[in-house]
Amino acid sequence: MDNLDKINKVVELILESNNITALTGAGVSAESGISTFRDKNGLWSKFSPLELASIEGFMANPERVWSWYQYRVNIINNSNPNDGHFALAELQKIHKNFSLVTQNVDGLHQKAGSENVIELHGSIIRNKCFDCNQIHEESVINNESLNNCKACNGLIRPDVVWFGEMLPEKEIKLAQDLSFQSDVFLSIGTSAEVYPAADLPLIAKRNGAVVVEVNPELTQLSDYVDIKIELKSGEAMPLILEEYKKRINK
Ligand SMILES: [Zn+2]
Repeated sequence: MDNLDKINKVVELILESNNITALTGAGVSAESGISTFRDKNGLWSKFSPLELASIEGFMANPERVWSWYQYRVNIINNSNPNDGHFALAELQKIHKNFSLVTQNVDGLHQKAGSENVIELHGSIIRNKCFDCNQIHEESVINNESLNNCKACNGLIRPDVVWFGEMLPEKEIKLAQDLSFQSDVFLSIGTSAEVYPAADLPLIAKRNGAVVVEVNPELTQLSDYVDIKIELKSGEAMPLILEEYKKRINK
């Protein structure tokens, strides 16, 4: 089957499905110009991931960590969702039970119109108190320097999951339940190597779902999926959406 045959096959599956779960990863945002972690030659390349994204790194130098995240927030604020994000948002609106789980922290799915996005790794746009965990809305945060929590005076940090931190329990449980219930599972632009994302397609498959991978690259999951579409999300998802719309209007 070539990619177009596979897309038609996926559309047929979507037409027959009751519950769809889509898992997205870094590849989806890369098409909007957002790099996974650091540019090799960028301003921040001299620091290790642990210095920039761990509790220890924050405690050692909170100013540095805060300004690195604000540098990234700035890139994200100047980025737009791509065709893959928009197609997913529209599919979610048309199909009644379409759940979206993401490992991305950039909020581009929401910017494209997706609702109830399950964020496994938190959100870089949202902040919280390092001490008491209270969520702080963007408007109260000064981007230039560190901010203190109004409740406890602790330092404000981005609400993302750092190295060595626990992932948000509620979101993981929800993502696992949705994967369990789905009859079609789409793994899009993710290498799905890291827990808990790595488990989700397998949970779905064990419970009878058809697992589809959309990724131009080979991943650890590629051998296990039922259908592998070797295209980028921004290419494949609009094609799936268009074909799906054609078929439901028939
Ligand atoms: Zn606090």
